[in-house]
Amino acid sequence: MIAENVQKILGEIAGGNSCGEKITLVAATKTRTPEEINEAISAGITDIGENKVQEFRDKYDLVHGANRHFIGHLQTNKIKYLIGKTCLIHSLDRMELAEELQKRAERASWTANCLLEINIGSELSKSGFSLEEGMHAYEQMRAFPNICVRGLMAMLPNSQDFQQLRALCLSMRQFYDTIRVQDRNIEHLSMGMSGDWRLCVECGSNMIRLGTSLFGPRAYPQSPVND
Ligand SMILES: *Cc1c(COP(=O)(O)O)cnc(C)c1O
Repeated sequence: MIAENVQKILGEIAGGNSCGEKITLVAATKTRTPEEINEAISAGITDIGENKVQEFRDKYDLVHGANRHFIGHLQTNKIKYLIGKTCLIHSLDRMELAEELQKRAERASWTANCLLEINIGSELSKSGFSLEEGMHAYEQMRAFPNICVRGLMAMLPNSQDFQQLRALCLSMRQFYDTIRVQDRNIEHLSMGMSGDWRLCVECGSNMIRLGTSLFGPRAYPQSPVND
């Protein structure tokens, strides 16, 4: 079943997004076993993302052949477990995290590729910078020599208001384009989960993070927010 789901989604995104860009599919692997994850990789998944450091560590050596992303809320005291082990941290959501990440990465002579997380729906339950703070935060992040900002990440609010979601997606793409024209490192707009990825891709997302659509419902559902 996993292999079929992977192939179906890869087929659907093969044509790229509305801006003519290739779409990267990141499998969101929280609660999934190493066997399930390896099955997805065999079926064509190239990128996987955990949202808890403990799970990231537990599965690290048991999963083979994929780029490792970190997609969840990151506590500063757990940064050390990701140093040198992750290709992209999607959740650079506060200045304090950037400062600590800079320190740790510098000590390891490593550069952390990161996405600036934007709390696009201004939700209290989610972390990230507001769109208004986004530019200033981006400029501050760029000053850290061991942090490389590669783009933006957002999670859409859980809403049925299609027009509102569309407007939020488009404002993310607009901000993404604003920074992209002046910075060659910017290449990822990570936006879209199982329930909303088609809309996100239509509005210019080029990286989607899917769990349920690939692996089925989670046995012990976790909150979809950044916890
Ligand atoms: C769990 C998770 C996803 C995927 O959620 P699904 O609705 O199962 O596709 C995407 N992004 C983050 C940050 C997650 O924690």
